[in-house]
This record gives sequence, C-alpha cells and structure tokens, in this order.
Amino acid sequence: MASPRHPNFLSLLLIISSIGSICNADLTVGVVTQEGRRGDVESRLLQDVFGNVTEEAGRLMPLLREVPQRDPLAAAAAVCSLADEGVAAVVDGGHSCSVGRVYGVPCISLRGASGKTAHDTDALTLHMEPDKNLMSRALVDFLQELRWFSLSVVYDSVEHLTLVEPLLGLPGFRVNVVKMDAQPNYEDVMTQLEQARSSRVLVVLEPPHLREFLGASKRPNGKPLDLLVATVHTRLGELKAAGRNIMAVRLGSQQHGMLEAEEALTLDASAVLKAALHHHQRSGAPPLRTESGLCLSRSHWRQGPQFFQALAQTKLEGASGPVEFNDQGNRVDFELSIVNFYEGITSEIVRWQAGSGVPANGRVRRDIRQLSGGRKPTLRVAAVLSTPYVVLKELGGNDTEELFGNDRYEGFSVDLMDEIAKEVGFNYILDINDEGLYGSKDPQTGEYNGIIGDLAAQRVDAAIGDLTISESRESVVDFTDPWYSFGIGLMVYHTGPKSSGPIFGFLNVFESSLWWVLLAATLGTAVVLFLLSRLSPYERVGAMDQEPQVWTPFTLCYSTWFALGTLFRQFIYFQPRAPSTRLVTLAWWLLVIIVAAHYVANLASFFTLRGLRSLGTIKSVYDLPDQNQITYNALHGGSTWAFFRDAKSESLQRVYSAMYNRASEQRIKSSAQGVEEVLEAQGSFGFLMEEPTLEYVTERNCELKQLGGTVGSRDYAIALQQDSPYLDYFNDALYSIRESGQLQALRDIWWREKRGGGQCESRFLSTEPSATASQVELDDLAGPLLLLVAGVAVGLVLALLECCYYATASANAKGSSVGSEMSQQFSQAITTQPAEQLPLSRQPKA
Ligand code: GLU
Repeated sequence: MASPRHPNFLSLLLIISSIGSICNADLTVGVVTQEGRRGDVESRLLQDVFGNVTEEAGRLMPLLREVPQRDPLAAAAAVCSLADEGVAAVVDGGHSCSVGRVYGVPCISLRGASGKTAHDTDALTLHMEPDKNLMSRALVDFLQELRWFSLSVVYDSVEHLTLVEPLLGLPGFRVNVVKMDAQPNYEDVMTQLEQARSSRVLVVLEPPHLREFLGASKRPNGKPLDLLVATVHTRLGELKAAGRNIMAVRLGSQQHGMLEAEEALTLDASAVLKAALHHHQRSGAPPLRTESGLCLSRSHWRQGPQFFQALAQTKLEGASGPVEFNDQGNRVDFELSIVNFYEGITSEIVRWQAGSGVPANGRVRRDIRQLSGGRKPTLRVAAVLSTPYVVLKELGGNDTEELFGNDRYEGFSVDLMDEIAKEVGFNYILDINDEGLYGSKDPQTGEYNGIIGDLAAQRVDAAIGDLTISESRESVVDFTDPWYSFGIGLMVYHTGPKSSGPIFGFLNVFESSLWWVLLAATLGTAVVLFLLSRLSPYERVGAMDQEPQVWTPFTLCYSTWFALGTLFRQFIYFQPRAPSTRLVTLAWWLLVIIVAAHYVANLASFFTLRGLRSLGTIKSVYDLPDQNQITYNALHGGSTWAFFRDAKSESLQRVYSAMYNRASEQRIKSSAQGVEEVLEAQGSFGFLMEEPTLEYVTERNCELKQLGGTVGSRDYAIALQQDSPYLDYFNDALYSIRESGQLQALRDIWWREKRGGGQCESRFLSTEPSATASQVELDDLAGPLLLLVAGVAVGLVLALLECCYYATASANAKGSSVGSEMSQQFSQAITTQPAEQLPLSRQPKA
C-alpha cells in the first residue's frame, strides 16, 4: 500500500495566512498529516508554525491532525474530530478524503482521482493531481514522442494499475510489466527486466521503492537502464541527487519554476481556497457558516455542496501549471513535461498539455553545446571504407584538385552523418580504419579490434557505415536506434537468360558421360543388329528361286544409319524382320524415346536458366552445408561471420564450420573482395553478405544475384561510446531525418541512382522448382540402358535359337543332317552379301 502524501507545512502556512486575510468570518480549515513522516524536529517546527499562524490569522482557525501511518481507524477519528470542530474544508495529502462523503465538508486532496468511474468516496473532493486516465493518455503520447516502443513498466501499487493498464496491448508497443511486491526482491526485478531485453523502463513507484530501485537498477552487464519516472509527486531533488541519466514526468513545465510537486500543489490548493472564498463572498450568497458537532450528530454541513461548487469552479494559473476542475472536482486542465537529469544538468525534453497533447513545438531541442562548455563540439567518427556507405570520392578526368579531410569521402553514411551533424549542431572528423576492420572480439584478451575497439577504447566518439548491432558489441559500445533492418543473403553468379551461352551449349543438357554412353549404345546397337541379321536365317533374304538366300540390308553401315536414324526419330525404310533383331530394335527404340523426352524437356529451361545449372539443389542458405556444388564464405571477422558462429541452429553452425575450416589465405577481408571472388569463380562460389550491400551490388552487376531469401534479423545503427551523452541527440536527429523522408531519399540516391544504379531488372534468382534446370545424368537413364543390354542379350539367344530351328527344318526338308545344315548356316552368315535389290516380299524357304 502506498503511503499517502501530505502538504508541505510552509505551503500550508501560505494557505492559511492568505485565506485569513480575505475571510470576513472565522473559518476553520482542517489539515491532515501523517505521524512520524517527518523527523521530531520538523514535527515540532510544524506545530510551532501552525500555532503562530493560528494566533496571527485570527479569523481563520487551522486545525492540524496527525494520524499514524496505515491506520484507517485513527484517520476516521481525526476526521470525526475535525467535523465536530466545524471546519469549512479539509486539506488532505492522502487519498481518504472521507470527510466529504461522511460530513458534507469539501476536501482538497493533493493526489489524483483513481480514474475509475466516480464513486462515493470521492464525493465533495477536489483533486489537485490529474486523474489516472488522463495521466495514462499523456504517458502514451510521451512514449510515442520518445520512441520508446519497446519497454518495461515497473509498478508497486494497485492504485497505479489504472495508469499502467492502457499501455498493455497498445498497437505498435511491446510492453513488459513487472509488479513489485511490498517487500521486493530487486534481484528478481532486475532479472525480469533483463528478460524483456529492453533497457527502457517506465517507473511507477512510490518514493521508498523508487529510492531502492534506483540503487539496484543496473543490468547484469553493468550498464544502467534508461529510466522514465512517471509518478509526478516524486521529489525531483532526489532524482537529481541520484547522479545518473534519468528522466521524470513532472506537473507543469520550466516556465512554472522548479518547485517540488508537493509544494507546488499545496500552494495551488491554497490559491484555490482563496479564489473560492473570494468567489463566494462576491456572489452575494449568504456568508459561510460552519457547523460544529457534525460527527456527534451524524449530520452533513448544509453549505458544504455550495462551497464545493465554488471550489470546483476555480480556474487559475498556479505553481503546478494551469488549474481547472470539472464538476466532480477532477483536475482537467494541467500541463506535464519530461525533465532529464544528466551529470547535474537538468533539461526539459518535451511538454504535454491536456486537450492538445504534445504540441507541435512541444519537443524542446536540447542544445548539445551544454555538453562541451558552450562550444560546438567536434566529434571523431570512425568508419570502414565500404561501398556505398563510406567511399573515396571519384574525381573527374580533369579534376586535379587534391582533396583533404572529410572532403575525400562520400557515401550514404557520410551524407547521413552530415545531416545529423547539421541537426544536432556539431562538427566531425572522419577517421578511416586502415585495416578495414569493423570489430570482433579477441577470444584470448576479450578486447575488440576495428572501429568497435576504437570506440571501446574511447579513441573516437562515434562509428558509422554498415555497422551491425550485435549483443556482444552492445556490451562495449552504445548503439543509436537502428536506421535500417535486414537479413543475411547469399550472393551467387548467374549469367542470366539474356547473355549468350557457349556454342555447344546444347550439349550441356546431358552430362558428358551420358553422351559417351549414348554414343557407345548407338554403335553397340548397330553392331548387334549387323551381327544378328547375319546370324538369323530369318533376316537374310534372297531372290525367290535363288539358292542360297544370302541377302540382308543390315550391313554394318546400314545398321549404324538405322540406329542413328531412329535416335533422331526418322523413318528408316528397311525394318528388321527376324524376332531377334526386332527385339533388339524394340529395346533400342525404348531408350530412344526416353532419351528424346529428357532432352526436349530440359533443353528449354536449360537455355533460360543456364547459369543456375550448378546450383540446382541450393534453394537457401540452409542448403549450403549439404551440397558440394559451390563453396561459400563471409567477410572474415564481420558480424555476418559472427552470426553463423554464434547461431543456435545446427545447419547454420555447419555453414560456419565450412567457412572456418578454410585456410587463412582464403579468408575474405572486405565485401569488395568477396564480390570479386564470386565474379571470378563464375558459379562455384557464393558470398554470404548483408542484404543492403547485396542489393547495392546486384543493382549494378547483373551477373550477380541473390539466391533464395535471407536468414537472421539484423540492424544497422551508429555506434557511440558506452553511456555517451550524445546518444539522445543522435536518436532525436535520426528520428526527424527518418520522419521527414530524408533517410529514404538518401537510400534511393545511393542505391538506385549514384554510381551506375538501376541497371539490372531483378536481383533475385528464382529458386522455384519449375524454373530450375539441372543436367540429365547417367543415372537418370540407367533403366532404359539396362533394358537395351537385356534386349541385346535375349536377342542373341533368340538368334541362336532361330539358327537351330532353321537348320533342323532345313535338314528335315533336305534329308541332310542338322550338323551340316548348321555349318552351312554359319558359312552363309559369314558370306552373306549386302543387298543390292531387295525382294522384300520374299520369305526364306522352309
Ligand atoms: N556489417 C558487418 C559488421 O558490422 C560487416 C559486413 C558483414 O559482416 O557482412 O561487422
């Protein structure tokens, strides 16, 4: 339970003396404070001051009641005694203004209404703090203005739930809520905040918890959290004394001075009482007469509601900003602002007004000069030369002028930095890293090299370029909000459908060994047909009445022509006649049909996707470990390399192993070198790189394409030293550069227009299965080839059987022996002549 708050006694003195001076009747105002809240000395002082005021004021009787903390019975008894004394109003720093409900006496609460629908307890109560609903609306506007889209909220009391609730499920926000117990374990709280992975924390805590939280709020890596304290009654002096970068929401703005909320609200409460009494006096209404014994008689003060109306109608410009209430006594006009404390400097960041929210000019630009003794600071900015982020200027042919300093460089990041420098108001000197190193951690020393190392060692103030945010780098430097989000892609070589292929490209449809096997099969079939046509008596033909029948069209030459002709699917006039030769021919035709089908099917896609042939099985980065068509690599020591090294997925780990196992001389030292290697390897090497750079390269070199989608989710940002005071300035500037469309404009200029952009149609290589072409391999035709071999074997057996059958039939007919017929058959097979005229209709004589 939160401890109620109470008015500052000096301000109460002010209330009482000012009321006394204008009041024409003796009126008593009750003041409820809490026992033991101040030290003994202070408490005595409070009594003295009130005693004096009472005597001096004469016409006003301020009555002080101290109640023990968290003792509702004692509070009720105090209120009862005030009601019996006959008070015109009660000023209560807590939130139990029951005097209004029970005795009809107006109560001025220094706290805000709960924000829930009005209920009895709030009867005749004027709230000096805005209600929780309005506060919550203001908070949403603030978070939007600060671009805190991902944050944690720490709160400690149910009373604050109304403030926190509207933030949950807010579109575009990721809010993690941590509720603190009455006796919080701060280690647990920090762990929960750490799990949310956001360093930004909205703090809605009462003072004792807030103090302890401030002491404990460091992330496990030792980095402080970014805090925005949203409880408006927090003492700003305490936050300032905490000596760290911290923001707080306060009532009013700089123009209302820097009073603590409690004092400002007490002063305003006194001003409201004064104004209401004035108003009552001038309205001609009967003078206020308080009634005593209200508690004893259990009755209501009759003039109470009338006086409450006068109080609620008060409208003034107070110490806490504009003050105005609705009929229920809720403060509806007020101003809020966010103040930032940093190393003793207090600055106002943004204002919010009830009704208009954050006004167009609400964002107060902080002046960076306050960080460098009033002078425009000059920052050292590290970068790696990398196209198109930071590149050496191209000098025209006639340009002999020598360039110095930043003038030597141009690029997207240089332009962006120029814009930020203009927006924030600083100068900068570019410091190019000679080794081209972005920054990786030495496993032995734990130190970073490259530009991240320079930042960690505070040799430079910022680092720009294609610098990727990573968790490990975040432990030594601070990153601004990202200026671009992307993934990692694979760049491959692809000649594209338009470029002409090799003259004998049509041969590439089949792998070379298949061509040789097909040639052997053609010649083999021709030889087999030639042999069988001689062996089989049913293939040989002769003149009708001529003996012996020694003619066959299947000479070696004709057989070869026959095999080739059918291969090209041409009609060949003379067809085999014997069962054995027909069987072999059938097996050959089967092969021919399947070969032709494969060739035709692959030819078309092969010509359009010629360059892809060696990448047939690679559809994405995940396929890389399971193939041997291409080798691949990433920039050594870059964040892409580290991404694969630290990946949790097994296939990405295997991608890394392949890169890691490469010899050190094969390491890629710059993105430009990686691109060169892809071009040189012409399809046998792929480069894993960040998508924006990949896009830039493929936009200018149409032979390079991105294969498949991307992996990982990465962000480019500007890096600053850890806890850099410039961080907020950079973020503010980046925000307005993005919002004004300048960031996109710069991207368009550097990616599409400058240095030969916009040349290539598509940067993606389609990996759709229908669009891929792969070489037909020997294995694809193994089945029909085996059938041909089987056909030839069976054909040979058949031919022998035909021979035997013919010899037996002939021997029976002639009465000779089968043996002599057989030998005659074989001699005829050898002496058979090529056919000159072919009496096709004739059959061998039986
Ligand atoms: N952007 C990377 C880095 O910050 C360099 C390029 C890469 O690793 O692909 O380390």
